[in-house]
Amino acid sequence: MLAQILRKTSRIEDNPLELVELPTPKPGSGEILIKISACGVCHTELDEVEGRLKCKLPVILGHQVIGRVTELDEEASRFNIGDRVGVAWIYHACGHCYYCLNGEENLCDNFKGTGCDADGGYAEYMTVSENFAYPIPDVLDDIHTAPLLCAGAIGYRALKLTGMNDGDIIGFYGYGASAHIIHQVIKILYPDSKVYVFTRRENDAPSQLAAKLGADWIGVTGETPPSKLHRAIDTTPSGIVIKEALRNLEKGGRLVVNVIRKESMIPEIEYSEYLWGEREIKSVANITRKDVQEFLSVIVRTPLKINVKEFKLSEANKALLSLKHGKHVGAAVLKII
Ligand SMILES: [Zn+2]
Ligand SMILES: [Zn+2]
Repeated sequence: MLAQILRKTSRIEDNPLELVELPTPKPGSGEILIKISACGVCHTELDEVEGRLKCKLPVILGHQVIGRVTELDEEASRFNIGDRVGVAWIYHACGHCYYCLNGEENLCDNFKGTGCDADGGYAEYMTVSENFAYPIPDVLDDIHTAPLLCAGAIGYRALKLTGMNDGDIIGFYGYGASAHIIHQVIKILYPDSKVYVFTRRENDAPSQLAAKLGADWIGVTGETPPSKLHRAIDTTPSGIVIKEALRNLEKGGRLVVNVIRKESMIPEIEYSEYLWGEREIKSVANITRKDVQEFLSVIVRTPLKINVKEFKLSEANKALLSLKHGKHVGAAVLKII
């Protein structure tokens, strides 16, 4: 099979991913083999490539995988050959540690990430335990479904963690793949809420997309919005954005940081101004299978418009570079067949 392989970490500008021919993997005990049709490209993969997030090496990246089952181990019985399935960031959780037993398998002591601790979807085939694959509802095509598996599903977990109520004002810091999906989910689940969007540059492509999707206010990070925020979600790589989001947060408000690594430090903050008043800050770590399943059931009820920029498997370096420089809006996806 063809696969994009990362042998050693490096700046994405150096084109570190190599397109190579590898043996097609065989499903192990309880696993399925998937012929991949599309794989989303995520900011986390930039962290993997550039060494901010430690992964096995060499590794095949990719954790938003859509494809069809082409082979089953004899212990695997959930799916049939030809079924359309998806794989998300959670590749494995142990099932018996404190966190797994308490419904927080995303924090499992032995958590394995797809395309990080195990090979993922920047390839023509991959294997996964049948228990960590999902049947995919027939509402969107493969290319438009792939970004739902991380940008959508982890974005949905972030939204749940904000503790949002209908009528709250929520702010998005960063308006990429995740925010543009979750914005649409908010409009369905919390119709009386207002959505404020903070972007890098005035009238840039993400700002234009936010306007098209009906944002109530759009500004550049650093600007003060017309009202304080009850909830905020930060998906940016920059540490200073955390300080900015806290500055605009209402008493009792909560900021959820949906980023696996920040590229810069959080500046010092003065307690009484930024945190007192029961303001909270919470990170999002990984995802549970329940989050993915819940989100997939939400999308069946929600007519989502997913903005996708398509790349070929051979263009994986280009896709990641374009993501780094914020050159496209919405989600980048590798179209594999
Ligand atoms: Zn991701
Ligand atoms: Zn566990």
